[in-house]
Amino acid sequence: MTASNPAAQRQAMVQNQLQRRGIHDPRVLDAMLRVPREQFVLPEYRHEAYSDQALPIACGQTISQPYIVALMTQALQLSGSEKVLEIGTGSGYQAAVLALLAQKVVSIERHEPLSRRAAEVLRQLGLHNVQLVVGDGTKGYPPEAPYDRILVTAAAAEVPPALIEQLAPQGLLVMPVGPPEHQVLRVYRKRGDHLEVEQLCPVRFVPLVPEEDAPEPE
Ligand code: SAH
Repeated sequence: MTASNPAAQRQAMVQNQLQRRGIHDPRVLDAMLRVPREQFVLPEYRHEAYSDQALPIACGQTISQPYIVALMTQALQLSGSEKVLEIGTGSGYQAAVLALLAQKVVSIERHEPLSRRAAEVLRQLGLHNVQLVVGDGTKGYPPEAPYDRILVTAAAAEVPPALIEQLAPQGLLVMPVGPPEHQVLRVYRKRGDHLEVEQLCPVRFVPLVPEEDAPEPE
């Protein structure tokens, strides 16, 4: 394996970081083999694109660790026919993985420069089933609701009510929930008017920032 061979690095990542830790969905493993993570990281981190960690991206945000991307994706149980809402486009890497596994992905990001950069990479990769939206993801995106699956890639104390409303019956929502030091990745299933919840593992995500906390435009 050499740094100049991303395909070999991806193969090693899938075996060592994902399969060894129990990621078993063949479609998820295949998607993780296909998405060129090096294109979503900052140029100065390209040599670390397949390392077992989150990495900094622009606007003080992070691209999640490959294992966590795979774990969240596997928890969504995608068969290919779903409409998925992602909150927190960030680099666009997670959106690219979802795009290979679902029919349509809508992804919301509050930082416009991140969304613009993600759009460019997704376009270069020919992933045309991702719709990027700049805005406050805590409100969801009503024009495309309901969503079969919702993935929140930033943490908050609780699931924003708008997202529960926009989740389809029997739909799954995956989100890190809890205070900064004690976030847990949770999987919710909507049954009637209540949510069933399952805990996956402790995680550490950047905060989900609602619009009222955002700095006022000048
Ligand atoms: N899924 C991303 C990782 C994102 S990190 C990837 O694959 O790279 C979480 C992202 O959520 C950050 O980019 C942050 O700006 C964004 N975010 C935080 N609060 C938000 C909100 N209320 N609405 C939309 N995006 C938000």
